[in-house]
Amino acid sequence: MTESALLGKSLAELTDWVQDQGQPAYRGKQLHQWLYQKGARSLHEITVFPKQWRAALEDQPIGRSTIAHRSIAPDETRKYLLRLADGEMIETVGIPTAKRLTVCVSSQIGCPMACDFCATGKGGFTRNLEAYEIVDQVLTVAEDFERRVSHVVFMGMGEPLLNREAVVKAVKSLNQDVGIGQRCLTVSTVGIPKQIPLLAEEKLQITLAISLHASNQTLREQLIPSGGGYPLSDLIADCRKYVERTHRRVTFEYILLAGVNDTPDHAEELAQLLRGFQTHVNLIPYNPISEVDYQRPDKNRIEAFQSVLEDAKIAVSIRYSRGLEADAACGQLRVNQTQ
Ligand code: SAH
Repeated sequence: MTESALLGKSLAELTDWVQDQGQPAYRGKQLHQWLYQKGARSLHEITVFPKQWRAALEDQPIGRSTIAHRSIAPDETRKYLLRLADGEMIETVGIPTAKRLTVCVSSQIGCPMACDFCATGKGGFTRNLEAYEIVDQVLTVAEDFERRVSHVVFMGMGEPLLNREAVVKAVKSLNQDVGIGQRCLTVSTVGIPKQIPLLAEEKLQITLAISLHASNQTLREQLIPSGGGYPLSDLIADCRKYVERTHRRVTFEYILLAGVNDTPDHAEELAQLLRGFQTHVNLIPYNPISEVDYQRPDKNRIEAFQSVLEDAKIAVSIRYSRGLEADAACGQLRVNQTQ
């Protein structure tokens, strides 16, 4: 975890850096290309640089992780356990389809939010990730698939808005340095007071996704302990302002837990909450984790919930998570690996 890692730096920053080393400005462009396109893991590999300079820079960290473990689910989703420079481990997921390669990145090591249904929170929190440690995850998955990454979702371990500055820096680097369109980047949050307006100020064209999971305050606090400090009414009001400010619709994620939040009444209540809003609801049937005994509702129940929202003219889709068999699905990422 060093500030001086070269990854995550912009072309202008890299150009300054090479010039500080007494090198001509064009070496900045070369360095940028080797870091982001050629996947250089050490300056030693950058053969266009003079030998003597490379030798002098031997200890300069670039900021790449190593793959400690990889598992592949039958649906081709790949889950990686990555070892960072300080020995800490994080999980990253690569989700391929014919047209897309989506990377689900972690923004923290562990997570302090302790949502009842999520495996990541059960292991506690270690530290925030640096921007370059987020960018590295995307490069690592691209290299492993030997394919361009088209989409990135900040839905791995951690709460991105507790690490807003590094997340925004990573978003900008993924956009400008790696070349992924802002509209193909999604930041998902459980909602942290004051952070959504601050994110709106960045005027990014990314998608903001809110992990809502409940249609009323009492239920939300039961599932998401931090919800008590950020009433639903304030959260929704901040989201409405976010839409006004960025002209981007907000996505709401709603895990369906059998007998807990999945009745038609809950769906009605949710529809009321989101009325007159430029939004999209993603229903996520619960993925089992060992620590709690929630159940996934059956298909009829899920579809009935969806119909209520559709009747209320709310854009809604059901997201059956990929990678379930490799414990790589939403909510199944954890720091302490047994495999
Ligand atoms: N902390 C951020 C980023 C994580 S995103 C957030 O909460 O938005 C991971 C998504 O998967 C979140 O919507 C989360 O609530 C959801 N999730 C967590 N546990 C899950 C589970 N067991 N089954 C299905 N989805 C789950």
